[in-house]
Amino acid sequence: MHSKLFINGAWRDALSGRTLDVINPATEQVFQTCAAGGAEDIDAAVAAATAAMAGPWRRTTGKDRAQYLRAIAAAIEDKKQLLAEVEVRDNGKPLPEALGDISDAAYCFNLYADYAEQLDGRQGELIAVPDDRFQSRVTYMPVGVAGLIVPWNYPLLMAAWKVAPAIAAGCAVVLKPSEYTPLTALELAQIALDAGLPPGVLNVVTGLGQDAGARLASHPDVRKLAFTGSVPTGISVATAAAKDVKSISLELGGKSPIVVFDDADVDQVVEWVMFGIFWNQGQVCSATSRMIVQECVAKLLIDRLAEEARKITIGDGMTPGVLLGPLVSKQQYDKVMRYIEIGRCEAKLVCGGARPAHLNTGYFIEPTIFADVPDTARIWREEIFGPVLSVATFQTEDEAVALANNSEFGLAAAVMSNDLERAQRVADAFEAGVVWINCSQPNFLEPPWGGIKKSGVGRELGTWGLNNFLEPKQITTYRVREPWGWYLKG
Ligand code: NAD
Repeated sequence: MHSKLFINGAWRDALSGRTLDVINPATEQVFQTCAAGGAEDIDAAVAAATAAMAGPWRRTTGKDRAQYLRAIAAAIEDKKQLLAEVEVRDNGKPLPEALGDISDAAYCFNLYADYAEQLDGRQGELIAVPDDRFQSRVTYMPVGVAGLIVPWNYPLLMAAWKVAPAIAAGCAVVLKPSEYTPLTALELAQIALDAGLPPGVLNVVTGLGQDAGARLASHPDVRKLAFTGSVPTGISVATAAAKDVKSISLELGGKSPIVVFDDADVDQVVEWVMFGIFWNQGQVCSATSRMIVQECVAKLLIDRLAEEARKITIGDGMTPGVLLGPLVSKQQYDKVMRYIEIGRCEAKLVCGGARPAHLNTGYFIEPTIFADVPDTARIWREEIFGPVLSVATFQTEDEAVALANNSEFGLAAAVMSNDLERAQRVADAFEAGVVWINCSQPNFLEPPWGGIKKSGVGRELGTWGLNNFLEPKQITTYRVREPWGWYLKG
C-alpha cells in the first residue's frame, strides 16, 4: 500500500517528515502509517496543479480527458477486491458494502467520461439574443485549480464524486482525504499514474484537517473548493474561501426524516427504515435518522424494527455475513455513545444502546432505537452519524410534514405510503434536496445530489457535478458591417 504524498506525478514524504497512524476500527490496531502532509506540502501540490493547468492539459478536449477517465474506471474495476478490502480495514464497513462503493466509484469515472465527451458538443453553443446584428455563443472553461476535501464515510467514492467531474472539466486538483481513511485515495493516485494522467493534474495530500485541509481551503491559487464533511468544518472552509472569492460547493450533514403512513407495507417499511439508518453503521450524510410514523401503526412497527435490529450480525467487516461493522474511529464511537447517554434522558430506549457483548475490542455499537422522542430532544435535532434511530409519531399528514421540515438540515427525506398521490404530495412538501418515495438511500449518479439549509451549497453528481468545475464564458460577436452609430454619427 502507498503511504507517501502524491505530488506532481511522484511519491514523496511530507516535508516535515511527520506521519499519521491508520487504525483498523475493528481491531483498534495501527496497520499502516502514512505521510502527514502540512501547509508546505499543500503549497507544493497547488504549485504542481497550477503548472499543469498552464501546460498542455489546458488544451485537452473532453474526448481526450474521457480516455483518462475510462482508463481510471477500468483500473478501479480491476483492483476492486483489493480496494474494497483496504476500505474495510480503513473504515470498518462490511466487505459487500465496500465492494458496492468501489463499483460505484468506477461507474462515476465512466459517467464523467461520457459527460466530458458531451461537453465538447456543448462548446460554442449558440444563445439566442433579441438583436440579430449580434451572435452570442457560450464556451465552458475549467474553473482552475480545485481543492477537493473529503470525509471518511465513503473514502474512495466521495473522492470519485469530485475527482471525476473535475478532470472531466479540465481542472487540475489537490485531493485531501480524511486522516482516518487516507489509503484508497493514494491507490487512486497510483491508478491515475498508470493511466498516464499528466503530472500535476491529480495530487493527493494526506494529512490532518487543521493543517493540510485548512491550507488548501485558504490557498490563494485554488479557485474552486469542493468540500464534503461536517457543518462546522464546512463553515470554516467557506469562510476561508470567501477571502479570495473562491467558488465553493459544500456537501454537509443531515438529520433526514422518513415519514411512514399507516397504509405502507410493513415489510417494506422495516427493510427501508433499517437500510436508512444501519447501512454503513449509520454514518451516512443522508441517513433517515428520524422516523415519523403514524400513531396507529407506531407500536407494531417499532416492535418489529427492534426485533429485526437485534438480529443484525455485528462484527469485523471482513467476516462473511456481517451487516454492521465498527464505527470509523474511537472519536466517532465516543461521540455516538455520548448521544446515546443523552437519549436515555430524553426518550425511551427500545433496543441497543451498548457495545455488543461478544465484541470487547473495536468501535462497535449495537443498532439502537429510541421511541417517544420529543422534537426538542438533541437526539432528534442533531446529527449523530451512527446506528441510532429516533422515532416520533403523528396523526395528520400536515403534522408529519411540519415535523419533517422542522430541522436546520435539508439534505434528504423519505416517505412510505401505498397511496402514491399522497406520497407525491408529501415529497413535494419536503424541504430537502433529495427525496425518496417508498425507499431510503438508493443513490444513482445521474440525478443531482446535495442539500438545502445547513446541509450545504450547490449540487454534485450528474451534469450539475460537472458544471461545478466549469466557468461559462459568453463570446458575443457584432457580425454586421453597419456602423454602430453611437458616437460616430456617420
Ligand atoms: P469533517 O468535517 O470532520 O472532515 C471532513 C474533511 O475535512 C476531512 O478530510 C478533514 O480532514 C477535513 N478538515 C477538517 N478540518 C478542516 C479545516 N479546518 N479546514 C479544511 N479541512 C478540514 O467530517 P467527517 O467527520 O470526516 O465526515 C462526517 C461528516 O460529513 C458528517 O457531518 C456527514 O453528514 C458529512 N457528509 C456529507 C455528505 C453529503 O453528501 N452531504 C456525504 C458524506 C459525509
